[in-house]
Amino acid sequence: MIKILNKGGLTYPIFVCDVCNKKINNLGLAAAIFQRSEIEGEVQNVLHVHKNACQDKGEKKLGGIAPWQELQDHVILLIGNSGGSLAGLTERQEDLGPFGLL
Ligand SMILES: [Zn+2]
Repeated sequence: MIKILNKGGLTYPIFVCDVCNKKINNLGLAAAIFQRSEIEGEVQNVLHVHKNACQDKGEKKLGGIAPWQELQDHVILLIGNSGGSLAGLTERQEDLGPFGLL
């Protein structure tokens, strides 16, 4: 899940694991998992989880083996499916300055 962290008077969006409720600090060590669906156009919930133990628990929560994406790929696809681009975000990151990093 995505939450907001208040720190030093500023607010930062962060990924929080839907299983252990701890902050996800490394996109490469996290995944997005969801239920398998054959229904065209269905919109589903997604869980953001740490890989391995949390991913296994998340899959059980979803009823078994679940399709998944690397969280970093999920973010790239999310940006594209939301009308954004990595190039556009790179320009924007410079404008955000200290707000973009923790
Ligand atoms: Zn976790």
